[in-house]
This record gives sequence, structure tokens and C-alpha cells, in this order.
Amino acid sequence: MESVRRLFLSGFVFCLWTGSVCSGADIDQCRELLLYGEYEKCITTTAEAIEQGVYGESWHLVKAEAEFKTGKYEESLKTIQSALERYGWSIRLRWLAMQVVPYLNQDELVLKYTEEIAQMVQASPWRYTDAENLVTLGHFVIEQGADVKAAQDAFFTRSRRNNPLHRSPALALGNLALEKRDFQLAAEMFGPAFEDHPDDPDITFGLALAFAGSDREVSNGYLQVTLEKNSNHIPALLFQVDHFIDAEQYEEASALIERTLKVNPHHPEALAYQSVIALLQEETEAGMKARNLALSTWKKNPLVDHTIGRKLSQKYRFEQGATFQEQALEFDPNFTPAKKQLIQDLLRLGREEEGWKLADEVHEKDPYDVAVYNLVTLRDELQKFETLEASGFQIRMSTDEAKIYGHRVIQLLTEAREVLTQKYKQELPETILVEIFPRPADFEVRTFGMPGVVGYLGVCFGDVITANSPASQDANPVNLESVLWHEFAHVVTLNKTNNRMPRWLSEGISVYEERQRDASWGEHLNVTYRNMILGGELSPIGEMSEMFLSPKSPVHVQFAYYQSSLIVEHIIEKYGFDSLLKVLDDLAVGMNINESLPRHTAPLKQLDEELVMYATELATEYGKNVEWSEPAIAEFIQSSEPAKDALAWADENPKHYLGLKAWGRILVEKGDSKTAIQLYEKAVELFPSEPGPESPLLTLAKLYQEQGENDKEKQALLKLVKIDDDAVAAFFRLMEIANDEKDWEAVKQFASKLLAVKPLIAQPHAALAAASEHLEESESAIDAMDSLLALKPADRADLYYRKAIQQQKLGQHDSARRSVLQALEEAPRYREALVLLQGLVDSNE
Ligand SMILES: [Zn+2]
Repeated sequence: MESVRRLFLSGFVFCLWTGSVCSGADIDQCRELLLYGEYEKCITTTAEAIEQGVYGESWHLVKAEAEFKTGKYEESLKTIQSALERYGWSIRLRWLAMQVVPYLNQDELVLKYTEEIAQMVQASPWRYTDAENLVTLGHFVIEQGADVKAAQDAFFTRSRRNNPLHRSPALALGNLALEKRDFQLAAEMFGPAFEDHPDDPDITFGLALAFAGSDREVSNGYLQVTLEKNSNHIPALLFQVDHFIDAEQYEEASALIERTLKVNPHHPEALAYQSVIALLQEETEAGMKARNLALSTWKKNPLVDHTIGRKLSQKYRFEQGATFQEQALEFDPNFTPAKKQLIQDLLRLGREEEGWKLADEVHEKDPYDVAVYNLVTLRDELQKFETLEASGFQIRMSTDEAKIYGHRVIQLLTEAREVLTQKYKQELPETILVEIFPRPADFEVRTFGMPGVVGYLGVCFGDVITANSPASQDANPVNLESVLWHEFAHVVTLNKTNNRMPRWLSEGISVYEERQRDASWGEHLNVTYRNMILGGELSPIGEMSEMFLSPKSPVHVQFAYYQSSLIVEHIIEKYGFDSLLKVLDDLAVGMNINESLPRHTAPLKQLDEELVMYATELATEYGKNVEWSEPAIAEFIQSSEPAKDALAWADENPKHYLGLKAWGRILVEKGDSKTAIQLYEKAVELFPSEPGPESPLLTLAKLYQEQGENDKEKQALLKLVKIDDDAVAAFFRLMEIANDEKDWEAVKQFASKLLAVKPLIAQPHAALAAASEHLEESESAIDAMDSLLALKPADRADLYYRKAIQQQKLGQHDSARRSVLQALEEAPRYREALVLLQGLVDSNE
């Protein structure tokens, strides 16, 4: 021990001496060159210093790392090997060598260095307790398969505890959190490190990644700082490339790839991205050429195919994507990222058996992987689901929900399949898989691979649809039928284009088809969209995909859906439905949308202008005579004679919609329903198109009801449901009114509309059952009664009895007998049931 200490001491002195006298630069300056991306200068400076005999492994490490970053793999390994002659005890040099040698295809060296590190640490563990060595050892043991949590505590956390200001442990902890997709933790790790090292591009880049999913603006800020500090920061450049590819901005992406390749002409990920861009544009040959280049150094680098496949899958090309993951796994059977991606691909392709099998395998090897753990848990949950088999579909729902409204889902999807396949002239695979989840977390794991991705009602992957069930939407129920119709339209268009479709067109057609099926479904023009259109917020068609990818706000996403549907609507109206079909055919063979649209419609620029005109006209017509400014509500509230003031104000401001509504609300609060009605009537007359809870039609209907004005109430509600597909209260009331009027067709109609939104409550099923009985539609009556029975009502005997009668009418005597026996089981002295049973027995004899 003694000798070692002396060796270090003398080395230290020596280093100081050479540092100041000979090399002209100290090691910190060289580290900065490395950190700020001046790799060539870094290599020359360190080389000079080493030539002159500086002491310390760091000089060699910095040089080798700069060589590694610039793709000079041979030089890098040479630097390390010659350094090892002098610093034979260095594990950091060996660890770096282990990163380099795969690029030289010298796998045997990985093994050699692995063994050496293990031996050295075992022999003299005390030697490797400084910040850098602890971090290196942490990385090393994790790669050797150690428990990540334990390794994190034993090495990274310990290193940080001993060196709270050092960048390395903070970086290691932050990056590990990023790897585990724990972004909040990552932000907590990088945050304080940023305070200590505000100029460190690796730390600012960590922050950019940590905020990428939650706050795009903050993330972008950190990304800009990163690139200002180090314009050659390859991970930051590639992060942007990834984003540009998502946005279909391939030119911008390619420019950044070029920039990356200037730093490292062999960079495998950069070349993989180059390959993806070519493949996405159907340039297969160029794509494979770039892939071969990416593999020209490290021949079995699994990251290359994994990256290509991952991006293809993000563009819905799951089949191709899966093939690349399989290739990556052939290169390295233990490459977990490829396995995880492949699981998702297989599940999205509907190849469930293979997908789950692989999930089990990965889970067994790595029980701590959160994503895979979630999937395996989900699979257990799914096994409790009921599978409904229908022609063309396999529908998975929770057992309870399947019994209550499964038959309605089948009916709707069957209709969608019939209507949309005919309309789009597209045959579909035999079975489309539809999964409906009562628990949002299960939906999120199945759909996105992780919980916490909120805001989606349903998602379509081509031949697989996932959706949230109404059970998860108590507060804001949405129309499940319109969601399923929308998703099924995706099934058709994705199949028609072989999944080669820009997001906006796919969404545009789906929203458009919702409105075609039911005028109240889908996105509609509203005041917000009107203002956005007139405020110049329409996007050119060429930038539509970006609107989905980086929206300024949640409203902008909704607006993107709406605008996309307007483009589709305009194309169909002006150029005919066939031209849309031709565009889809072009996409199917790999043509770019911006090339195809002019072929069958008009040049993009003209199309953009037409769209602006079309949308502006709609927006101008929408509430044309309305004055849209905000009223001075504070003044209204202070009025001592609200009825008088309101009417006088209305006379003076007959076009002030929001003002009329505000007065109406104040009068309702004061209990003056009659005057309130006058105000609301003026509002509705001026602008009858507002759906939702703020609609004056809803309040007006309530006021009419209070006044006993039944017909006016009904008319107001009818107006509302024409423009609102989830107006639960209105459906309820219309169902009631129709029931009082014994208008059974109307009862059926509104019960059905209510069921599309709230299929898990009894009232609409009960109303539908009764209406169907009156209309002598026995099958529909039986379905509704089965739904009711599944809801476990109190009076089951009566329901079984009524069901038996309907079954008898259909000539289903055995079933009828079973039902009546069930009725008698509930109520043994049920006289009518006994009579019916006797009749059924007699008719059988
Ligand atoms: Zn959609």
C-alpha cells in the first residue's frame, strides 16, 4: 500500500510539472474541448501532451474518447492500448475499450477486458473509489447483468454522496432514470446538476430529454442550449432528426444527418436514420445501402436494425418494423430494446400469441423492467375478458360489459365494416381485433406500452383497435359508437394504403366518415375553431402532420383533426370521391402525399388557397350576424331591476350572443324564468348552433319544462341533439317525453342514442326493451332484456317472464321455457309465468 501511495504522489507532481511547462494546455482545457465538441483540436492537443510525456490516464481517456466520438475506432483503441502499458491498473481505459472494440469486430477483446476489470476490482477494490471510477464500475456491473437498483445505490449514488459537485454521478443517475423512462426522476437528477454546471451540454441535453414528453417548450430550450454549447453534440442532433422524421420533414432530418456524419462519418444511428428516411420514401435500394454503411464498422450492431424498425413502426409499418427487430435479435439475441419493440409490434399486428410469449420471456429475464411487467400484468387481466366472435371481428371486453352491450358493439362494427369496405373498395383481413378496456391504465399499456398517456379514446393500429370503455368516462362520457366508427375508418384506410398514410389524412377521413354516419358525430365547427380559422391558424397541407406532432395546445390538436376533415371534405366535394380513392391508391404504392394530391386534385399551393377560402366561408357564415365580444357581466349582476335592464339591453344589443346568454343566466338565478326564456329565445334565434353544456338550448328546454310548455321543450331538445352526440340529459328527457307520448319509435331512437354514450346504466336498456315490445321487434327486445339482466336489477322475475314471451313469439319454445323457469325460480308463485309455462308445455306435446 505504501508504494502505491508514493506512486500516486510522484505522478501528481510530475503531471503538474509537465502540464504547466510542456504541453501548453492543461487537462481541464482538453476536457472542455471534448465537452464542447472540438474533437479534432482535442485530439491534437492531447496527442501533443502525451507525446511530451504528461502523466495521468485522463489525457489518454480524453483523447481516446474524442477519437471514438469521431469514428476513429482504430486510433481510439491504439490510444487506449498504449496507455494501458503505462496505466495497467486503469479500469476506465478498459471500459472505454469495451465500447470501442465492437466497432472493430474484435469481440474477443470485450471478454478479455471484462475479465481483467473483474479481477482488478476484486484484488484492490479500494483503488476504485473516486467519483469517476465508481461511475465506471456502476456502468460495468449493470452491463454484466447486475441488479440495476442495487448497482445504482452501490456505485452511482455512493459516488454522488462522496462527490456532490461532480458531473459524472449526476449524469449517470439522470441517464439511468431516462433509460427506465422515469422522466420525473431524471429531471430531479439533472436539475441540481444544471445549477452546478450550467454550461455542461450533456446535462442540458439530459434535461431536454427529461422534459421532451411533458413540456416541449422547456425541452426545446435545453436542446438549444446544448447545441449552442456543443454544435457537434451527436445525441442532440439525432434527437432532432428523430423528431423531424416523425413530422415527415425529411429534408430537415437529412440535413442534420449530414451534419452528424461530418463529425463521425461512420455513425451507425445517423446512418440508420438515413436508411429509414429512404425506406419511408420507398427508396429501398438507398435504404439498404445506408443500412449496410451503418453496419460497415460494427457488423452485428443490433442498434442499427432496431432503430430502423422502431421508426418504421412509428409510421405504422409494423410488419416491416417487426422484421428489422427480428434481424437485430439475430445479431444479438440478448438485445432487450429490440425485444421490447418486437413485443409491441407483434401485439399491434394482432400476432398476440407470439407477442405474449416474448413478453413472458423478457419478463422472466428482467422482472424489474416496468414496461414488460405492465404488459404481462395486462395479459393476465385480458385473460379474464370475454371474447365475442362475430363475422369479421374478435371483440374483447370485460365479461360484465360484454353481456351488457357487447351485442351493440358487434352491430355497429358489422355495419361499419359493410359500409366502409364498400365505399373505399377495400377488402379486409378476415379478423379485426377490437379490445375495449374499462380501466384506462390497461388501455394505455396495451396501446402505448405504458400507463399515463391520457387523452385518447381509441386507437387503431391497422388490424387492431383499442378503446376506452364508457366505464372509465363517468365525468365526461363520450360517444363510444362514434369512436369505434372513427377507428374502423382507420382500419379501412390503413389497409387500403398498406399503412402508408400521413397522419392528417388518416384522421381527416375518419372524422369525415363519423359525420357521414351521423351528422351529430365527429368534430364540428365551433366558436373556437371559427376564431382560429379567421385568425389565420389554418396550416398549409404540407405542414399538417406537424400540427399533430407538436401542437401549441390541446385545442390545437382538436383543431388539427377538424382541419384535416375539412381538407377531406373539400377534396371530395370539389374533386369527387374517386379522386380521394386514387390518392389512397398512390399512397399504397409508396407515393408521397404531396406528389399524389396534385395528380388528382390541384397543385398544393392552389389546394391550400382553396382550403383557406372554403374554411373561411364556413367560418364567416357560422354565426354570421353575431357580435362575439365578451359582455360586461359585472355590470349585469349589479342591476337592481334585472328583468327591465335585460330586455332593454337586448333591444339595444340584439346580436350580442354571449350577452343574451349571460342575462339569461342571471335571470334564472334570480328566479325570473319567464324573462330568462325571452333572453334565451333571442340567443337561440340569433345563433342556434352551440352544442355542449353551455348551449342555451339545454337551459331553455329546462325552463320550458318548468313552465309546462312541453312541445316547446321537445323542439328545443330536438334541435340540440341534432348537433350534439353526447347530450346525455337531452337524450334522457326526449326518451321520457316519447314514452309519455307512447311514441315507441322515438323511444327506441333516443334510447339508442343514449346507449351510445352510456351503455352501462339500466334506463335506456329498459326503455328500449319496452319500446321493442310495443313495436313487436322481439329480437331487439330480447337483447335489451339480456342487457338489463346483466345489470342485475331487483325485479328479475318480470324480465325473465317478458323475455319468455318474446322468445315464444319467435317460436323459440325451449329458450322460452328456460326463461320462464328462471322467472319462477325468482318468484315461485308468479301466476302469469305459471300460465305461460303451462302453455309452453302444452304446445310442445
Ligand atoms: Zn383517429
